[in-house]
Amino acid sequence: MTQTLPTPRGALTPNRPLADLTWLRVGGPADWLFQPADEQDLADFLAALDPASPVFAMGVGSNLIVRDGGIRGVVIRLGRGFNTIEIAGETVTAGAAALDAHVARRAAEAGLDLTFLRTIPGSIGGAVRMNAGCYGSYVADHLVSVRAVARDGGLLDIPAADLALAYRHSELPPGCVLTRATFRANRGEPADMAAKMQDQLARRDASQPTRDRSAGSTFRNPAGYSSTGRADDSHDLKAWSLIDAAGLRGHRLGGAQMSEKHPNFLLNAGGATAAELEALGELVRDRVRESSGHDLAWEVIRVGEP
Ligand SMILES: Cc1cc2nc3c(=O)[nH]c(=O)nc-3n(C[C@H](O)[C@H](O)[C@H](O)COP(=O)(O)OP(=O)(O)OC[C@H]3O[C@@H](n4cnc5c(N)ncnc54)[C@H](O)[C@@H]3O)c2cc1C
Repeated sequence: MTQTLPTPRGALTPNRPLADLTWLRVGGPADWLFQPADEQDLADFLAALDPASPVFAMGVGSNLIVRDGGIRGVVIRLGRGFNTIEIAGETVTAGAAALDAHVARRAAEAGLDLTFLRTIPGSIGGAVRMNAGCYGSYVADHLVSVRAVARDGGLLDIPAADLALAYRHSELPPGCVLTRATFRANRGEPADMAAKMQDQLARRDASQPTRDRSAGSTFRNPAGYSSTGRADDSHDLKAWSLIDAAGLRGHRLGGAQMSEKHPNFLLNAGGATAAELEALGELVRDRVRESSGHDLAWEVIRVGEP
């Protein structure tokens, strides 16, 4: 790497492998991995960084396939300086690096219901970016506003209404990094919410390969958009059933496998490369198109060079 980068207070590591930072445990290195000390450090760094340098913000990598050639430019991963959780009245403000599960638990202890976040294995930054949700609740139902650092280092406060939140989708200015999010939650009994979260964990374990290396649902459910653009669980065309009907439950390609337990989960069953995972995903898309006419769209974000 010959490029000169600004000197931040946080950690800036050249040629940093990313596989161990993702749930699927695949992928090549980032040219640079930047772990800012705090929001000001991030803002100063981005303001001084060559505007031509690509920037990619990652959370905890639970919805990512990083390709084997790695990611050019700077990958930004938020850590300790971004994981506070503050509760005031009926709002919860969480740093983008706070884990969804921690936010759900802290909110429940304070009598606020963000229980839907309990079983989503990502960070708040990733949850907002993906409009994450399950069991009928989505980030869009609770998000009030976000704070972000723009690619030029400017600080942005963005109301939720400006993010165009839709099924597993949000619109953020390119290169911008979310630093925190404020949610509004309904009140509830802490004991009831603790029980609800236990129940959701058990439901997950019963239906999904929660102990395997995956990135959650691989493809979006093809049907089911309500008028608000949210997934509508009442329309029942699920990606997993199309994959199952195409005979691909458990299908393997090298170290990649469609889960036996939940056919829409793509697994690193041992020693998979990103190329194998992506090739298996594309094979599934081809076979489902042939057998049902449906064009499955990736939900997992694929990033980097082959
Ligand atoms: C077992 C399992 C179960 C899952 N179940 C669900 C589920 O029920 N519902 C659901 O919605 N998802 C689910 N997922 C997918 C995943 O957990 C979510 O999409 C999650 O919100 C991703 O968060 P992350 O921190 O891991 O983000 P990453 O995977 O690291 O990144 C995802 C996207 O968010 C962007 N991003 C992350 N942080 C920031 C930031 N600070 N600023 C700007 N952009 C950012 C990245 O650029 C990328 O585009 C599941 C995944 C697994 C492995």
